Amino acid sequence: MRLILLGPPGAGKGTQSKRLMAAHGIPQLSTGDMLRAAVKAETDVGLTAKDIMARGDLVPDDVVVAIVEARIENPDCTNGFILDGFPRTVAQAEALEAMLHRHGLDLNAVIQLEVDEAALIERVEKRAAESGEAVREDDTVEALHKRLVVYREQTAPLIAHYRGTGHLVVVDGMQPIDEVTDEIERTLGTTDGTLRRASA
Ligand code: AMP
Repeated sequence: MRLILLGPPGAGKGTQSKRLMAAHGIPQLSTGDMLRAAVKAETDVGLTAKDIMARGDLVPDDVVVAIVEARIENPDCTNGFILDGFPRTVAQAEALEAMLHRHGLDLNAVIQLEVDEAALIERVEKRAAESGEAVREDDTVEALHKRLVVYREQTAPLIAHYRGTGHLVVVDGMQPIDEVTDEIERTLGTTDGTLRRASA
């Protein structure tokens, strides 16, 4: 099973992909986590990504695409994977399609977690106020606003892209966490051997 989780920052992609990983025994590939690890290890990729990430911008497509391609060649991805935070641009989606094609693999579904952006901002502002400081360097109110703008401008066009390819499944991400998980699992229900997909 090869899935993409799509949605703005704070929509719950990380939480839901971890649950999918546990339930289906396939790895969660979070480009954000991979990039944060690279920053910490001070690799070349990390040095490129550090300031870009701190201000909430996107790391260049070729850098991220190379990381993902190296990762999906790992044996633990043989039975599938959940992409969390990738692709984030139409160019990345096209690179992913080419990459999967080269490996003779298909994409099963793109799960869009639909959320109310005003509620997301409120959530992060509350978290920042409570903790006094942000847990993540890019988890400040300012960086979140930037990441939402970047999402709207560069990532949201993927919704139409995947509606067009027939992969898009829309799930209401404002429900309680367990209900979001249940809806995703129902969506992925393979009782008839095929995935239920949103029609274009
Ligand atoms: P995330 O943990 O998914 O919110 O990602 C944190 C940050 O890493 C983002 O704000 C971007 O700066 C960078 N990043 C993660 N994934 C990508 C991607 N697919 N393309 C470009 N930049 C990315």
